[in-house]
Amino acid sequence: MNHFSYHRGTLHAEEVPLPAIAEAVGTPTYVYSKATLTRHFQMVTEAFGKHPHLICYSVKANSTLAVLRLFAEAGGGFDIVSGGELARVRQAGGDPAKTVFAGVGKTPDEMERALNAGLLMFNVESAEELEMLDAVGRRLGRRAPFALRVNPDVDARTHRHIATGLKTSKFGVPFEEAVDLYTRSRKMKGLSAVGLDCHIGSQLTRSAPMKAAISKVAGLYRSLKEQGHPLAYLDIGGGLGITYRDETPPSPQEYARTVLEASKDTGATLILEPGRVLVGNAGVLLTRVLYRKRTPAKTFVVVDVGMNDLIRPALYEAHHELQPVVKRRGKPVQVDVVGPVCESTDVLARARPIVLPQQGELYAVMSAGAYGMSMASTYNSRPRPAEVLVDGAAWRVIRERETVEDLWRGERA
Ligand SMILES: *Cc1c(COP(=O)(O)O)cnc(C)c1O
Repeated sequence: MNHFSYHRGTLHAEEVPLPAIAEAVGTPTYVYSKATLTRHFQMVTEAFGKHPHLICYSVKANSTLAVLRLFAEAGGGFDIVSGGELARVRQAGGDPAKTVFAGVGKTPDEMERALNAGLLMFNVESAEELEMLDAVGRRLGRRAPFALRVNPDVDARTHRHIATGLKTSKFGVPFEEAVDLYTRSRKMKGLSAVGLDCHIGSQLTRSAPMKAAISKVAGLYRSLKEQGHPLAYLDIGGGLGITYRDETPPSPQEYARTVLEASKDTGATLILEPGRVLVGNAGVLLTRVLYRKRTPAKTFVVVDVGMNDLIRPALYEAHHELQPVVKRRGKPVQVDVVGPVCESTDVLARARPIVLPQQGELYAVMSAGAYGMSMASTYNSRPRPAEVLVDGAAWRVIRERETVEDLWRGERA
């Protein structure tokens, strides 16, 4: 469900025709729909209804301040993976007391800043990290609230680059070590065990792996409670997939049913860490066609979006639909849509049947709201795109296009 649709042959974001934004702001530009962002958040909230839960939006999916502000105003918390993300959450008006901190490589400095900010809990991913957190807690004279992120060894059945719950993955502590670590933590004066956590991967399109992982972790939660650990939170991570092409991920309702069934009788407040499902289909990336190029082997369409602006196709072999901003009749031809970056992997779409566009024609790269701008870089010294938030018939720039001066800020020749 999103608010990007054609009116009289022109693609709109809510009530705003996309050419108007391209004219005013240029391309490439990320365009988000506020109504879609809000609706996605509400759908997840409503799916869990009265069951005690907290939605901690996963900041890395899209960490733009205006997006964070919107979820903070909707009552959401946040899932962060760095001190930088904590700073963003605070800058956007998010509540650290509703924020959880994951990641295998938190530095002592990041731990200290998060603890001072009054974070809800640290999702700890190794025995040595737990000892470090204890040391930081003791140094500050506080008990750091923590959950262990356990690795349930479940195949999430997603792309190998975004599966995180296998035995061979760097994430989480082995399931079998968890009980021992919670027991040891009782003697550690800088720690306080408040929850249990898992996250098995991203772009999950099937319920079975989620059910398997959560059932396993819920069982561990119950036995830890029986052993007297005063846990309150069961954090089930994020990962719910979206439709990029023809995937049929579980709806938020189905997802909630699976989660609630698998975690019943724990008495825990559930923490959810959705990222992609909230923002993915709420954003498009506007691009302009620069050149068409025919070689004996192929037809190429060169656009002004590069892998530095949207790295998902190059990094994950990801598929993004391409929609002409103004519909045009004609017979589709098979083309490779490529960006300007000097890398062979800078291909937005391979062997894609589209009506051969004119030079200057606008395209919308669909489903670009998640892991788009947050992964953008300045590789090839390309300033990063602008971002726009549409709200009904109104729109505003929420991040200005980077300038070339921004590119060398802090440098000394
Ligand atoms: C990335 C991540 C998420 C969000 O994943 P999505 O697939 O975007 O929902 C949640 N929790 C953790 C720990 C993550 O690393």
